[in-house]
Amino acid sequence: MAYLACGVNARVEKTRHVAVIGGGWAGMSAAVELATHGTRVTVFEAAKTLGGRARRVDSDGAALDNGLHILIGAYRETLRVIEKVSSADHGSKLMRLPLQLRLEPGFRMHAARLPAPLHVAVALAFSRGLGVAEKFAAARFMHSQKASGFQCESGLTVSALLNQYRQPDDLVECLWAPLCISALNTGPEQADAQTFLNVLRDSLAGPRSASDLLLPKTDFSNLFPDPAADYVRKNGGQVQRGMTVTSLRKLDNSFEVSAASTARYSHVILAVGPHRLEQVAGDIAQLAPQVAMVRNFAYQPIFSVFLQYPENVRLPVLMIGMRRGLAQWIFDRGQLCDQRGMLGVVISASGNHQDLPQSELAQRVHQELEQRFALPEPRWSRVIAEKRATFACTPNLQRPTTRTPVPGLFIAGDYTQSPYPATLETAVRSGLDCAQHILAPHV
Ligand SMILES: Cc1cc2nc3c(=O)[nH]c(=O)nc-3n(C[C@H](O)[C@H](O)[C@H](O)COP(=O)(O)OP(=O)(O)OC[C@H]3O[C@@H](n4cnc5c(N)ncnc54)[C@H](O)[C@@H]3O)c2cc1C
Repeated sequence: MAYLACGVNARVEKTRHVAVIGGGWAGMSAAVELATHGTRVTVFEAAKTLGGRARRVDSDGAALDNGLHILIGAYRETLRVIEKVSSADHGSKLMRLPLQLRLEPGFRMHAARLPAPLHVAVALAFSRGLGVAEKFAAARFMHSQKASGFQCESGLTVSALLNQYRQPDDLVECLWAPLCISALNTGPEQADAQTFLNVLRDSLAGPRSASDLLLPKTDFSNLFPDPAADYVRKNGGQVQRGMTVTSLRKLDNSFEVSAASTARYSHVILAVGPHRLEQVAGDIAQLAPQVAMVRNFAYQPIFSVFLQYPENVRLPVLMIGMRRGLAQWIFDRGQLCDQRGMLGVVISASGNHQDLPQSELAQRVHQELEQRFALPEPRWSRVIAEKRATFACTPNLQRPTTRTPVPGLFIAGDYTQSPYPATLETAVRSGLDCAQHILAPHV
């Protein structure tokens, strides 16, 4: 195979040139994997900032994120790609904590430093805020799921599954509902039970480290997409920001991609996010089934409310859940990323908060926090509403595969077929999968 020497130690292959459309976590993972193997790659990202739905948002000098994300130890591939593109200091970008849940008022659970599955069993046994009956019900539920290989009948919602196993209301409110909403971004009444069980299997019922929480100490573009772009460039690729792809055409043995100019590529990875798929690939007739599948998706929002208090304001711990009300999770960004006095509040999935003007939403969230933590008035607040944060993870949802009927054309993104809901790990794995299809086409 012909190679073109270039950059650091890279040897870049001349024959393949892959266009990756979309510089989110899926697209950048694909680009990193291709560049690692000496394949020429060009990333097109419409926005000025890389990262898509997990990116930095600059707000009057403060680096915020479009959403307060959390990673878990089970995100094996995500952690691997972050490590790959980071310099020696990558360890300092993530804070790793054993699983701990604190929900106000009253619920506390902290994973024990014991081998799995004892770490969760002991955490549950010694949790505060649940009665003995609730603890037994939770243990019975996990035991039954383990016995049945974390498989349930298809078409079931999480609520229906929890009802089948007679899970008490208090337990649902403290444990199962917050886990379901955080992981699937869909309320238990609508969420797919099998996807929920897949998440439980690979986190709570996995090795101890799988349930660890990993909280970013930096903004989300800096955590992976920006260093990934540097890595791609050093290995002979290109990353073009602020470059929207306006058309994609299939030619006999290649693809024509039009952005500011038009060029040909041997392969294309569509990594644009589900609601943009039709816009970019709608002219390719063979992709009609995939486009139709995605057109049927419903979406769920995530709102993030940032409140800047005086610098001495500090929460008792860096992440606290709220049981009732609008605010679901509160992060102390002072303890996390040295933004002292700033609290970030997550409101996942749909709800009445969507109808409130943003200033009123911020005020209502402040009032809720103020009642529990006795806070002064915030100096400023900012609401970031991601109305299509993820697809609604409902039963029997058809998701497209990364391979398409068009040779050389692949789809990457958190909405592609996977045992998992829309997460960073799903996005990263889909990107790596597309790259592998190109690198080893016959496997
Ligand atoms: C507020 C919020 C909170 C979240 N919290 C978590 C969490 O805690 N944990 C977790 O694991 N996941 C979380 N998620 C989900 C996670 O962010 C997504 O699953 C992941 O970022 C999706 O990545 P992606 O690459 O598949 O898609 P995207 O991030 O949507 O990337 C697609 C990219 O394509 C670009 N693009 C679109 N059209 C074009 C075009 N024509 N030309 C060029 N570029 C184009 C877009 O600008 C975008 O950058 C959250 C999401 C949100 C919104």
